[in-house]
Amino acid sequence: MPKTIKKVGVLTSGGDSPGMNAAIRSVVRTCAYHNIECIGIYRGYQGMIEGDFKEMGPRSVNNIVNKGGTILKSARSLEFKTPEGRKKAYENLTKAGIDALVVIGGDGTFTGGLLFNTEFNFPVMGIPGTIDNDIFGTSHTLGYDTALNTVVDVIDKIRDTASSHNRLFFVEVMGRDAGHIALNAGIGAGAEEILIPEENLGLDRLLESLQKSKASGKSSSIVVIAEGDKIGKNVFELKDYVEANLPEYDVRVSVLGHMQRGGSPSCFDRVLASRLGVKAVESLIEGKSNYMVGLQNDKVTLTPLEQAIKGKTEIDRELLRVSDIMST
Ligand code: ATP
Repeated sequence: MPKTIKKVGVLTSGGDSPGMNAAIRSVVRTCAYHNIECIGIYRGYQGMIEGDFKEMGPRSVNNIVNKGGTILKSARSLEFKTPEGRKKAYENLTKAGIDALVVIGGDGTFTGGLLFNTEFNFPVMGIPGTIDNDIFGTSHTLGYDTALNTVVDVIDKIRDTASSHNRLFFVEVMGRDAGHIALNAGIGAGAEEILIPEENLGLDRLLESLQKSKASGKSSSIVVIAEGDKIGKNVFELKDYVEANLPEYDVRVSVLGHMQRGGSPSCFDRVLASRLGVKAVESLIEGKSNYMVGLQNDKVTLTPLEQAIKGKTEIDRELLRVSDIMST
């Protein structure tokens, strides 16, 4: 018989992402639905160490489904990486009567949660919240869809200027290790070329492609570049390189930065957050632990945290081909 869960703690950790609030709301309301108490833990694992807790009833999460960021705040806690820090956190949870945890964040957050479970046999469920979509075991992480829409919206605006002045724009988007945002937003916004960390396009091919597009009659172009693209030059060095080799181009750079992490979550992210929150709490009630809830083939699934942490997401090669064809 699984241990009866009476009080669930919920926290957000690592980088914030749109949809985290909708996930908190879902966890709180699913607990209320099943007559379980819910405690909000502020500032991720750091709040667990400091006992920064607040009881959350179903009305405490009114009007947050549409808000970006996280009402519970997020933090990176170095202290939680030490056995002493985790022991303090465990003592605080026990004192507060919390007997299970839902942690919303990325792979670092899951690593901490898994370690905590191993040391104290404490039930933990993870919800993937990061705009990068780089977590194994889910087709979408919370915030990814919103970030794509934000990026496409901004590139549409940049395009207005690019086409009015016959300019080439390099737009840098987030994605140090994963090119999902660059590839998908690039296709969605009609980019000429897309540079991602998973694929070394090479400088020659970039020049060739730009020359080809000029010859084919295009007067302006957008190149989308992920932060961690494989060419090894940052976006400003790339601009210098292209201008030195193709003097006919007047290159402008736009680094989108943190605006990609903010904003009201898309409908997709709100629905996803609601589904994942329900599954996380109900899985804890069923006695499950050490899983990440995610979306696969539009079904909510469970993936062992260990696999979610170690597994690598793959870039969709068909999308690379589509992007190539679209820039003809
Ligand atoms: P993002 O994708 O936005 O970076 P993340 O969850 O991967 O999100 P991290 O800063 O890597 O963000 O991790 C969040 C927190 O998880 C850390 O601040 C730390 O408290 C905890 N954590 C990460 N790695 C470990 C670890 N090896 N042991 C214990 N705790 C960890």
